[in-house]
Amino acid sequence: MRISVIGCGYLGAVHAACMTVLGHEVVGIDVDEAKVEALRAGRAPFFEPGLPELLAQAEGTGRLTFSTSMSDASGADVHFICVGTPQMHGEFRADLTYVDAAVTALAPYLRAGDVVAGKSTVPVGTAERVARVLAPSGAVLVWNPEFLREGFAVQDTLHPDRLVYGLPTDDEGVATAAGEKARAVLDEVYAKPLADGTPLVVTDLATAQLVKVAANSFLATKISFINAMAELCEATGADVTRLADAIGYDPRIGRKFLNAGLGFGGGCLPKDIRAFMARAGELGVSDALGFLREIDSINMRRRVRVVDLAREVCHGSIVGRTVAVLGAAFKPDSDDVRDSPALSVAAQMQLQGAHVTVTDPQAIENARAKWPDLRFAADPLEAAAEADVVLLATEWAEYRDLDPDELGAVVAHKRILDGRNVLDPARWRAAGWTYRALGRP
Ligand code: NAD
Repeated sequence: MRISVIGCGYLGAVHAACMTVLGHEVVGIDVDEAKVEALRAGRAPFFEPGLPELLAQAEGTGRLTFSTSMSDASGADVHFICVGTPQMHGEFRADLTYVDAAVTALAPYLRAGDVVAGKSTVPVGTAERVARVLAPSGAVLVWNPEFLREGFAVQDTLHPDRLVYGLPTDDEGVATAAGEKARAVLDEVYAKPLADGTPLVVTDLATAQLVKVAANSFLATKISFINAMAELCEATGADVTRLADAIGYDPRIGRKFLNAGLGFGGGCLPKDIRAFMARAGELGVSDALGFLREIDSINMRRRVRVVDLAREVCHGSIVGRTVAVLGAAFKPDSDDVRDSPALSVAAQMQLQGAHVTVTDPQAIENARAKWPDLRFAADPLEAAAEADVVLLATEWAEYRDLDPDELGAVVAHKRILDGRNVLDPARWRAAGWTYRALGRP
């Protein structure tokens, strides 16, 4: 199939390369010239494990090109919309400017029967609005939400947990003839994962748009649930990691996403739950999602609690104290610093008078662009030199494996805050460290 991918960020660049590897002819289109230039040169414009190799493989086929010109999308059978939908400034709503701009720019190049597949995470109702804009072209609009996880994006795109198609339906909820044709086209696009047995959910447009925000709301709820338990554990001297192990053995609960700590961040979960709440309000059902406000609050409280913990171990004040923050990315194996809990805590401590040095294996450049006033160091030993307190804020494997003796040799005071509950308290205490964590004695 001939495919265009509009928007080549964390989602689109991976999608474009994976579609090529699946056998299609792909053009990736982005308004960001630097990004397109990097991709054309076979360079990944961001850190994602496996992406450089995948790009090399895809570009080696001669079937993957990149462009800044929407006219290069013409002739494609399927157009995937992968542009950003960030939070609006000062509001909970999603900013749909990029979706609208992409669709408006694409419309003149569409032919009757072309399939436009939305992948961006959007408020329910967006697809129906976009469909009206595209109607004169005769193209059919479907929604095909994306569930990839940064850090596992290549694997998740080539071997997804499930595929969801939201098709246009008639008044009875049955897919229209155009919808059925689009379904056949998507089946061809995803022939390989479907042949591998990937579950497929075919539904209407509203459900498909809701699936993604519902999934992210559930994940956010799970994280905030265990972080709420961490607050209880802190009040009672209990250990939230053991509590999570114990409840996680129940298969109805499951252990995944029950790691208490600094909470969630990134370019998806926070903005998605807020946009979902805003949309529920517009639909007159805000009570249904009232709990998400609490999920958000619990999450943000963890960031405040870590700053308080730093104050506690520094005998009441962090003013003038030297703090090393290990991690800037919102999660390991990514360089994405959008709404990163690590950076948010680093900036808070700096604003409250501490001298903060941040390190990260991949995200320093992005972090510096966002918080130029913070100091940055290449590695943990450099960051922790003469530190009064060290905070593990992002659970990169190399931070989990840190040697307490080696780190202990460079700090001013052996005080470690395990913001992700990934270190062995006994080992660090045995090496002479004051060890504190969220939800643990
Ligand atoms: P991103 O900011 O990394 O990428 C968006 C890209 O779209 C940018 O490169 C931008 O230059 C480009 N763009 C903006 N306007 C454009 C236009 N008019 N024409 C062409 N390109 C344009 O964002 P992302 O993380 O890739 O997320 C994209 C969407 O996918 C969002 O809705 C997000 O919620 C959703 N999503 C993201 C992930 C993830 O893990 N990052 C996972 C699933 C879904």
